[in-house]
Amino acid sequence: MNYKIALIRGDGIGPEVVGEAVKVLNTVGEVCGHTFAYTEVLLGGCATDAVGKSYPDGTAETCRACDAVLLGAVGGPKWGSDKPAEQRPETALLAIRKDLGLYANLRPAVLRPAMAEACPLKKETAERGIDLMMVRELTGGIYFGQREKYETEDRGMEAADRMAYSEKEIERIGRRAFELARLRRSKVSSVDKANVLETSRLWRSVMHRLAEEYPDVSYEDVLVDNCAMQLVRDPGQFDVVVTENMFGDILSDEASMVTGSIGLLPSASIGDAAPGLYEPIHGSAPDIAGQNKANPIATILSVAMMFRYSFHLAAEADLVEQAVDSVLAGGWRTPDIAKAGETAIGTVKMGDLICEKIRELHK
Ligand code: NAD
Repeated sequence: MNYKIALIRGDGIGPEVVGEAVKVLNTVGEVCGHTFAYTEVLLGGCATDAVGKSYPDGTAETCRACDAVLLGAVGGPKWGSDKPAEQRPETALLAIRKDLGLYANLRPAVLRPAMAEACPLKKETAERGIDLMMVRELTGGIYFGQREKYETEDRGMEAADRMAYSEKEIERIGRRAFELARLRRSKVSSVDKANVLETSRLWRSVMHRLAEEYPDVSYEDVLVDNCAMQLVRDPGQFDVVVTENMFGDILSDEASMVTGSIGLLPSASIGDAAPGLYEPIHGSAPDIAGQNKANPIATILSVAMMFRYSFHLAAEADLVEQAVDSVLAGGWRTPDIAKAGETAIGTVKMGDLICEKIRELHK
Protein backbone atom coordinates (compact mmCIF):
# COMPACT_ATOMS: atom_id res chain seq x y z
CA MET A 1 0.00 0.00 0.00
CA ASN A 2 1.01 3.64 -0.50
CA TYR A 3 0.55 6.14 2.32
CA LYS A 4 0.97 9.90 2.37
CA ILE A 5 2.49 11.34 5.53
CA ALA A 6 2.82 15.02 6.46
CA LEU A 7 6.11 15.54 8.33
CA ILE A 8 6.31 18.39 10.81
CA ARG A 9 9.88 18.29 12.04
CA GLY A 10 9.50 21.44 14.15
CA ASP A 11 12.07 22.93 16.50
CA GLY A 12 14.82 21.86 18.90
CA ILE A 13 15.24 18.07 18.86
CA GLY A 14 12.16 17.73 16.59
CA PRO A 15 14.13 17.33 13.35
CA GLU A 16 16.51 14.82 14.95
CA VAL A 17 13.83 12.51 16.33
CA VAL A 18 11.65 12.76 13.22
CA GLY A 19 14.71 11.87 11.13
CA GLU A 20 15.03 8.56 13.03
CA ALA A 21 11.29 7.89 12.81
CA VAL A 22 11.45 8.33 9.03
CA LYS A 23 14.27 5.77 8.90
CA VAL A 24 11.99 3.36 10.77
CA LEU A 25 9.06 4.10 8.43
CA ASN A 26 11.26 3.42 5.41
CA THR A 27 12.63 0.22 6.91
CA VAL A 28 9.13 -1.11 7.66
CA GLY A 29 8.08 -0.05 4.15
CA GLU A 30 10.99 -1.96 2.67
CA VAL A 31 10.45 -5.21 4.60
CA CYS A 32 6.63 -5.21 4.55
CA GLY A 33 6.09 -3.85 1.03
CA HIS A 34 4.59 -0.41 1.70
CA THR A 35 5.62 2.96 0.35
CA PHE A 36 5.46 6.20 2.27
CA ALA A 37 5.41 9.56 0.48
CA TYR A 38 6.35 12.53 2.67
CA THR A 39 5.18 16.13 2.52
CA GLU A 40 7.26 18.53 4.61
CA VAL A 41 5.15 20.99 6.62
CA LEU A 42 6.60 24.04 8.40
CA LEU A 43 5.09 24.68 11.81
CA GLY A 44 6.23 26.25 15.08
CA GLY A 45 9.22 28.48 15.71
CA CYS A 46 10.91 27.47 12.46
CA ALA A 47 7.80 28.65 10.59
CA THR A 48 7.85 31.97 12.46
CA ASP A 49 11.46 32.43 11.37
CA ALA A 50 10.69 31.50 7.78
CA VAL A 51 7.34 33.22 7.14
CA GLY A 52 6.57 35.30 10.25
CA LYS A 53 3.78 33.01 11.57
CA SER A 54 3.98 29.80 13.56
CA TYR A 55 0.95 28.41 11.72
CA PRO A 56 1.38 29.33 8.06
CA ASP A 57 -1.70 29.65 5.84
CA GLY A 58 -2.66 26.40 4.17
CA THR A 59 -1.13 24.14 6.85
CA ALA A 60 -4.40 22.34 7.65
CA GLU A 61 -5.21 21.83 3.94
CA THR A 62 -1.77 20.30 3.30
CA CYS A 63 -2.21 17.95 6.28
CA ARG A 64 -5.74 17.02 5.22
CA ALA A 65 -4.39 15.84 1.88
CA CYS A 66 -2.27 13.26 3.74
CA ASP A 67 -3.23 10.01 5.49
CA ALA A 68 -1.44 10.91 8.74
CA VAL A 69 0.73 13.61 10.30
CA LEU A 70 3.98 12.98 12.19
CA LEU A 71 5.16 15.81 14.43
CA GLY A 72 8.48 16.11 16.29
CA ALA A 73 8.09 19.01 18.72
CA VAL A 74 7.78 22.76 18.54
CA GLY A 75 8.85 25.66 20.73
CA GLY A 76 11.89 27.12 22.38
CA PRO A 77 13.08 30.18 24.28
CA LYS A 78 13.53 32.14 21.05
CA TRP A 79 9.74 32.26 20.55
CA GLY A 80 8.66 32.92 24.15
CA SER A 81 5.56 34.47 25.70
CA ASP A 82 6.82 37.99 24.92
CA LYS A 83 6.08 37.33 21.24
CA PRO A 84 2.66 38.02 19.69
CA ALA A 85 0.32 35.00 19.66
CA GLU A 86 0.66 34.32 15.93
CA GLN A 87 4.43 33.89 16.33
CA ARG A 88 4.24 31.53 19.31
CA PRO A 89 4.61 27.80 18.61
CA GLU A 90 1.87 26.77 21.10
CA THR A 91 -0.65 28.78 19.07
CA ALA A 92 0.17 26.59 16.08
CA LEU A 93 -0.29 23.38 18.07
CA LEU A 94 -3.73 24.37 19.36
CA ALA A 95 -4.74 25.58 15.89
CA ILE A 96 -3.74 22.43 14.01
CA ARG A 97 -5.51 20.14 16.51
CA LYS A 98 -8.65 22.24 16.25
CA ASP A 99 -8.56 22.63 12.45
CA LEU A 100 -8.09 18.89 11.94
CA GLY A 101 -10.93 18.16 14.41
CA LEU A 102 -8.62 16.04 16.60
CA TYR A 103 -10.84 15.65 19.64
CA ALA A 104 -9.31 12.51 21.14
CA ASN A 105 -5.80 12.35 22.55
CA LEU A 106 -4.48 8.84 23.14
CA ARG A 107 -1.51 8.46 25.43
CA PRO A 108 -0.38 4.97 26.27
CA ALA A 109 1.56 4.68 29.51
CA VAL A 110 3.44 1.42 29.27
CA LEU A 111 6.25 0.29 31.51
CA ARG A 112 8.47 -1.43 28.94
CA PRO A 113 9.83 -4.67 30.47
CA ALA A 114 13.50 -3.67 30.05
CA MET A 115 12.81 -0.34 31.79
CA ALA A 116 11.15 -1.66 34.96
CA GLU A 117 14.03 -0.28 37.06
CA ALA A 118 13.22 3.27 35.83
CA CYS A 119 9.76 3.15 37.44
CA PRO A 120 9.73 5.47 40.47
CA LEU A 121 7.07 3.35 42.22
CA LYS A 122 7.59 0.44 44.62
CA LYS A 123 9.28 -2.61 43.09
CA GLU A 124 6.19 -4.83 43.67
CA THR A 125 4.02 -2.25 41.87
CA ALA A 126 6.40 -2.06 38.90
CA GLU A 127 6.56 -5.85 38.73
CA ARG A 128 2.78 -6.06 38.34
CA GLY A 129 3.29 -4.09 35.10
CA ILE A 130 1.72 -0.91 33.73
CA ASP A 131 -0.12 -0.85 30.43
CA LEU A 132 -2.83 1.77 30.28
CA MET A 133 -4.25 4.06 27.63
CA MET A 134 -5.21 7.56 28.68
CA VAL A 135 -7.94 8.97 26.43
CA ARG A 136 -8.23 12.73 26.88
CA GLU A 137 -10.90 14.96 25.36
CA LEU A 138 -8.87 17.55 23.47
CA THR A 139 -11.05 20.25 21.96
CA GLY A 140 -13.58 21.17 24.64
CA GLY A 141 -13.85 22.04 28.31
CA ILE A 142 -12.17 24.80 30.23
CA TYR A 143 -9.23 25.25 27.83
CA PHE A 144 -11.64 26.35 25.12
CA GLY A 145 -14.29 28.12 27.24
CA GLN A 146 -14.84 31.83 27.56
CA ARG A 147 -12.18 33.67 29.57
CA GLU A 148 -12.84 36.83 31.53
CA LYS A 149 -10.82 39.21 33.66
CA TYR A 150 -12.46 42.23 35.20
CA GLU A 151 -12.18 44.76 37.97
CA THR A 152 -14.56 44.39 40.93
CA GLU A 153 -15.62 47.09 43.31
CA ASP A 154 -14.33 45.51 46.49
CA ARG A 155 -12.24 42.43 45.63
CA GLY A 156 -9.69 43.78 43.18
CA MET A 157 -9.31 42.01 39.84
CA GLU A 158 -11.32 38.84 39.24
CA ALA A 159 -10.84 36.21 36.53
CA ALA A 160 -13.05 33.36 35.29
CA ASP A 161 -12.68 30.45 32.85
CA ARG A 162 -15.82 28.67 31.72
CA MET A 163 -15.98 24.88 31.47
CA ALA A 164 -18.71 23.57 29.17
CA TYR A 165 -19.35 20.17 27.60
CA SER A 166 -22.16 19.04 25.33
CA GLU A 167 -23.62 15.53 25.28
CA LYS A 168 -22.36 15.19 21.73
CA GLU A 169 -18.77 16.00 22.70
CA ILE A 170 -18.89 13.55 25.60
CA GLU A 171 -20.47 10.78 23.58
CA ARG A 172 -17.90 10.84 20.75
CA ILE A 173 -14.91 10.64 23.13
CA GLY A 174 -16.72 8.02 25.21
CA ARG A 175 -17.30 5.84 22.16
CA ARG A 176 -13.60 6.07 21.28
CA ALA A 177 -12.75 4.81 24.76
CA PHE A 178 -15.15 1.85 24.62
CA GLU A 179 -14.00 0.89 21.11
CA LEU A 180 -10.35 1.03 22.21
CA ALA A 181 -11.09 -1.04 25.29
CA ARG A 182 -12.49 -3.77 23.03
CA LEU A 183 -9.08 -3.96 21.34
CA ARG A 184 -7.33 -4.17 24.72
CA ARG A 185 -8.41 -5.64 28.07
CA SER A 186 -12.05 -4.50 27.89
CA LYS A 187 -12.14 -2.12 30.81
CA VAL A 188 -13.05 1.58 30.84
CA SER A 189 -12.46 3.87 33.83
CA SER A 190 -14.21 7.21 33.35
CA VAL A 191 -12.76 10.03 35.42
CA ASP A 192 -14.82 13.00 36.58
CA LYS A 193 -15.64 15.20 39.55
CA ALA A 194 -19.36 14.46 39.61
CA ASN A 195 -19.63 15.17 43.34
CA VAL A 196 -18.96 18.85 42.55
CA LEU A 197 -19.21 19.78 38.87
CA GLU A 198 -22.34 19.93 36.69
CA THR A 199 -20.25 19.16 33.57
CA SER A 200 -19.05 16.00 35.31
CA ARG A 201 -22.62 14.91 36.15
CA LEU A 202 -23.53 15.23 32.47
CA TRP A 203 -20.29 13.43 31.54
CA ARG A 204 -21.19 10.57 33.89
CA SER A 205 -24.76 10.20 32.65
CA VAL A 206 -23.59 9.96 29.01
CA MET A 207 -20.90 7.43 29.96
CA HIS A 208 -23.47 5.29 31.79
CA ARG A 209 -25.67 5.26 28.69
CA LEU A 210 -22.70 4.16 26.59
CA ALA A 211 -21.71 1.50 29.11
CA GLU A 212 -25.09 -0.17 28.51
CA GLU A 213 -24.32 -0.26 24.78
CA TYR A 214 -21.02 -2.04 25.47
CA PRO A 215 -21.97 -4.81 27.93
CA ASP A 216 -18.80 -6.73 27.02
CA VAL A 217 -16.64 -3.90 28.41
CA SER A 218 -16.41 -3.49 32.17
CA TYR A 219 -16.98 0.06 33.36
CA GLU A 220 -16.27 2.14 36.45
CA ASP A 221 -16.56 5.79 37.51
CA VAL A 222 -13.49 7.20 39.25
CA LEU A 223 -13.32 10.61 40.89
CA VAL A 224 -10.36 12.61 39.60
CA ASP A 225 -8.70 12.99 43.01
CA ASN A 226 -8.95 9.24 43.61
CA CYS A 227 -7.59 8.55 40.11
CA ALA A 228 -4.53 10.72 40.84
CA MET A 229 -3.90 8.57 43.94
CA GLN A 230 -4.58 5.23 42.24
CA LEU A 231 -2.12 6.05 39.45
CA VAL A 232 0.74 6.00 41.95
CA ARG A 233 -0.71 3.31 44.24
CA ASP A 234 -1.65 0.70 41.66
CA PRO A 235 -1.56 1.85 38.01
CA GLY A 236 -1.77 -1.77 36.85
CA GLN A 237 -5.53 -1.74 37.66
CA PHE A 238 -6.25 0.58 34.69
CA ASP A 239 -6.80 -0.35 31.06
CA VAL A 240 -8.51 2.57 29.25
CA VAL A 241 -8.92 5.78 31.27
CA VAL A 242 -11.17 8.39 29.66
CA THR A 243 -11.53 11.94 30.88
CA GLU A 244 -12.15 15.57 29.99
CA ASN A 245 -9.48 17.98 28.73
CA MET A 246 -8.00 19.54 31.89
CA PHE A 247 -8.16 16.41 34.07
CA GLY A 248 -6.57 14.51 31.17
CA ASP A 249 -3.80 17.05 30.78
CA ILE A 250 -2.74 16.56 34.38
CA LEU A 251 -3.38 12.82 34.76
CA SER A 252 -1.65 11.91 31.51
CA ASP A 253 1.55 13.60 32.69
CA GLU A 254 1.27 11.74 35.99
CA ALA A 255 0.72 8.43 34.19
CA SER A 256 3.74 9.12 31.98
CA MET A 257 6.04 9.70 34.91
CA VAL A 258 5.22 6.38 36.55
CA THR A 259 6.65 4.67 33.49
CA GLY A 260 10.01 6.31 34.00
CA SER A 261 11.04 8.37 31.00
CA ILE A 262 9.61 11.15 28.89
CA GLY A 263 11.80 10.05 25.97
CA LEU A 264 9.90 6.77 25.55
CA LEU A 265 6.29 7.89 25.35
CA PRO A 266 4.29 8.37 22.16
CA SER A 267 0.85 9.88 21.58
CA ALA A 268 -1.85 10.12 18.97
CA SER A 269 -4.54 12.73 18.42
CA ILE A 270 -7.43 11.55 16.32
CA GLY A 271 -10.76 12.77 15.02
CA ASP A 272 -13.50 11.27 12.89
CA ALA A 273 -12.36 12.02 9.36
CA ALA A 274 -9.13 14.00 9.17
CA PRO A 275 -5.68 12.42 9.38
CA GLY A 276 -4.48 11.52 12.87
CA LEU A 277 -1.56 13.42 14.33
CA TYR A 278 1.20 11.38 15.95
CA GLU A 279 3.86 12.89 18.19
CA PRO A 280 6.09 12.15 21.17
CA ILE A 281 4.77 13.55 24.44
CA HIS A 282 7.99 15.44 25.11
CA GLY A 283 8.78 18.96 23.95
CA SER A 284 11.59 20.35 21.82
CA ALA A 285 14.25 19.92 24.57
CA PRO A 286 16.30 22.98 23.56
CA ASP A 287 18.90 22.04 26.20
CA ILE A 288 20.07 19.03 24.18
CA ALA A 289 19.09 20.06 20.63
CA GLY A 290 21.61 19.41 17.88
CA GLN A 291 23.84 17.24 20.07
CA ASN A 292 22.79 13.75 18.98
CA LYS A 293 21.58 13.12 22.56
CA ALA A 294 17.80 13.00 22.11
CA ASN A 295 16.00 9.72 22.60
CA PRO A 296 14.10 9.01 19.35
CA ILE A 297 12.05 6.12 20.82
CA ALA A 298 8.94 8.18 21.70
CA THR A 299 8.71 9.37 18.09
CA ILE A 300 9.41 5.88 16.75
CA LEU A 301 6.63 4.46 18.97
CA SER A 302 4.38 7.25 17.63
CA VAL A 303 4.97 5.70 14.21
CA ALA A 304 3.79 2.36 15.65
CA MET A 305 0.60 4.12 16.80
CA MET A 306 0.20 5.59 13.31
CA PHE A 307 0.41 2.08 11.85
CA ARG A 308 -2.17 0.79 14.33
CA TYR A 309 -4.73 3.61 14.39
CA SER A 310 -4.48 5.36 11.01
CA PHE A 311 -3.30 2.61 8.66
CA HIS A 312 -4.77 -0.42 10.49
CA LEU A 313 -1.43 -2.21 10.14
CA ALA A 314 -1.38 -4.02 13.49
CA ALA A 315 1.42 -6.44 12.53
CA GLU A 316 3.67 -3.54 11.47
CA ALA A 317 2.88 -1.73 14.75
CA ASP A 318 3.81 -4.87 16.71
CA LEU A 319 7.02 -5.19 14.70
CA VAL A 320 8.17 -1.67 15.62
CA GLU A 321 7.24 -2.13 19.30
CA GLN A 322 9.02 -5.49 19.47
CA ALA A 323 12.12 -4.00 17.84
CA VAL A 324 12.18 -1.19 20.44
CA ASP A 325 11.72 -3.65 23.33
CA SER A 326 14.42 -5.89 21.97
CA VAL A 327 16.97 -3.07 21.57
CA LEU A 328 16.22 -1.90 25.13
CA ALA A 329 16.50 -5.48 26.40
CA GLY A 330 19.92 -5.60 24.73
CA GLY A 331 20.97 -2.86 27.16
CA TRP A 332 21.21 -0.01 24.64
CA ARG A 333 20.40 3.37 26.19
CA THR A 334 20.39 7.03 25.15
CA PRO A 335 21.72 9.41 27.86
CA ASP A 336 18.26 10.18 29.29
CA ILE A 337 17.64 6.54 30.23
CA ALA A 338 21.20 5.37 30.93
CA LYS A 339 22.05 4.63 34.55
CA ALA A 340 25.17 6.15 36.13
CA GLY A 341 28.24 4.42 34.74
CA GLU A 342 26.42 2.99 31.68
CA THR A 343 27.71 3.97 28.25
CA ALA A 344 25.06 5.80 26.29
CA ILE A 345 24.55 5.86 22.55
CA GLY A 346 23.37 8.76 20.39
CA THR A 347 20.08 9.48 18.62
CA VAL A 348 21.27 8.18 15.25
CA LYS A 349 22.75 4.95 16.60
CA MET A 350 19.49 4.21 18.49
CA GLY A 351 17.54 4.69 15.25
CA ASP A 352 19.97 2.45 13.35
CA LEU A 353 19.74 -0.33 15.95
CA ILE A 354 15.93 -0.29 15.87
CA CYS A 355 15.95 -0.48 12.05
CA GLU A 356 18.42 -3.36 12.17
CA LYS A 357 16.20 -5.18 14.67
CA ILE A 358 13.12 -4.65 12.48
CA ARG A 359 14.94 -6.34 9.58
CA GLU A 360 16.07 -9.18 11.85
CA LEU A 361 12.64 -9.78 13.41
CA HIS A 362 10.89 -9.73 10.04
CA LYS A 363 13.05 -12.53 8.57
P1 NAD B 1 10.75 19.12 27.18
O1 NAD B 1 9.93 17.90 27.09
O2 NAD B 1 11.21 19.71 25.90
O3 NAD B 1 12.05 18.83 28.08
C1 NAD B 1 11.98 18.45 29.45
C2 NAD B 1 13.28 17.72 29.82
O4 NAD B 1 13.25 16.40 29.24
C3 NAD B 1 14.54 18.38 29.29
O5 NAD B 1 15.57 18.21 30.23
C4 NAD B 1 14.86 17.61 28.04
O6 NAD B 1 16.24 17.59 27.71
C5 NAD B 1 14.36 16.22 28.36
N1 NAD B 1 13.87 15.53 27.16
C6 NAD B 1 12.70 15.78 26.50
N2 NAD B 1 12.59 14.97 25.44
C7 NAD B 1 13.69 14.20 25.43
C8 NAD B 1 14.16 13.16 24.57
N3 NAD B 1 13.46 12.74 23.49
N4 NAD B 1 15.35 12.59 24.85
C9 NAD B 1 16.06 12.96 25.92
N5 NAD B 1 15.68 13.93 26.77
C10 NAD B 1 14.51 14.55 26.52
O7 NAD B 1 9.90 20.17 28.02
P2 NAD B 1 10.21 21.70 28.36
O8 NAD B 1 11.67 21.89 28.66
O9 NAD B 1 9.21 22.07 29.36
O10 NAD B 1 9.87 22.50 27.03
C11 NAD B 1 10.83 22.87 26.03
C12 NAD B 1 10.09 23.49 24.86
O11 NAD B 1 9.23 22.51 24.26
C13 NAD B 1 9.16 24.65 25.27
O12 NAD B 1 9.27 25.65 24.29
C14 NAD B 1 7.77 24.03 25.27
O13 NAD B 1 6.77 24.98 24.99
C15 NAD B 1 7.90 23.03 24.14
N6 NAD B 1 6.95 21.90 24.22
C16 NAD B 1 6.44 21.47 23.04
C17 NAD B 1 5.59 20.38 23.02
C18 NAD B 1 5.09 19.89 21.69
O14 NAD B 1 5.65 20.25 20.66
N7 NAD B 1 4.06 19.06 21.66
C19 NAD B 1 5.26 19.73 24.21
C20 NAD B 1 5.82 20.18 25.42
C21 NAD B 1 6.68 21.28 25.41
